[in-house]
Amino acid sequence: MKIENVTVAGSGVLGSQIAFHSAFNGFKVTVYDISKEAVEKAEDRIKSLKPYYERDVNATEEQFDAGLNNLTYTDDLAAAVKNADIVIEAIPERPDIKRDFYHKIATLAPKDAIFASNSSTLVPSMFAADTGRPKQFLNLHFANQVWLNNTAEVMGSPQTDPGIYQQVVHFARDIGMIPIQLKKEQPGYILNSLLIPLLNAGQSLWVKGVADPQLIDKTWMLATGAPMGPFAILDVVGLRTAYNITATQAAQSGSKELKEIADKTKELLDEGKLGRESGEGFYKYPNPAFQDPDFLKA
Ligand code: NAD
Repeated sequence: MKIENVTVAGSGVLGSQIAFHSAFNGFKVTVYDISKEAVEKAEDRIKSLKPYYERDVNATEEQFDAGLNNLTYTDDLAAAVKNADIVIEAIPERPDIKRDFYHKIATLAPKDAIFASNSSTLVPSMFAADTGRPKQFLNLHFANQVWLNNTAEVMGSPQTDPGIYQQVVHFARDIGMIPIQLKKEQPGYILNSLLIPLLNAGQSLWVKGVADPQLIDKTWMLATGAPMGPFAILDVVGLRTAYNITATQAAQSGSKELKEIADKTKELLDEGKLGRESGEGFYKYPNPAFQDPDFLKA
């Protein structure tokens, strides 16, 4: 089966980007969300991507509009998945909501349709049985700002059919992504499995008073040639998200150190330091110290 008709379920931050980027790359895309209001919001959200496509990928107005013309919107789930070759699920990161969604589309979608979840933390074997088609189910994980950060991590469950997996790899390429093929399930995929321990280690050195953020970043940059250290990365991620991740980890693990990291991050948040988006986090923007040519000297 050739993938032609794409349905994206959930049109929030990521769903709207996945839907438009697929449409921009020539696919017919149906956008589904739970209510008329949510669908209307999705249309506005997608239209507001225009300046980013113009600035970041040199898209012309005609190219952007051609993408818009490939989109249809609905709050009717049966209609949304009726002709789908692939359903990409980008609904809230709540197992109960996802499970219920897969139960519903199991009987509504064509029997050969592929289901792919964009979940950041939940592995596909959690929902394989709910989909009624475990061989045709896997995760396809995009990064925020899909048009710029064009990785798509492809991760099957032990039951995913290798042929279906490869079809999704091709599809990811066809919509302009670089498919990152995981050989087995891994919570956090490759990127977050590497990144979160690095960020936690940097923050741990900071709260223990071993060194301040700038010296920690400088050490990492000098020793590895990386363009940013953990605190510069935290500013990009945003301190609100960073706080949510460590606060959740602290609550789950009972770790005193993670709690201390969360508390210290909260202090910065309370001062309005949200990272790059607010102009200040661990560094001040638009000209952060770590980009100063003298930063790595003596
Ligand atoms: P979001 O809250 O911005 O959007 C979720 C959307 O799902 C909303 O429009 C909501 O109305 C809709 N929704 C709620 N219940 C639904 C249902 N039963 N059926 C259909 N739609 C429903 O969330 P998001 O940040 O776009 O995240 C969505 C998924 O993508 C999550 O699994 C998340 O882990 C993953 N993800 C998010 C990011 C990110 O940076 N935000 C990055 C990668 C992956």
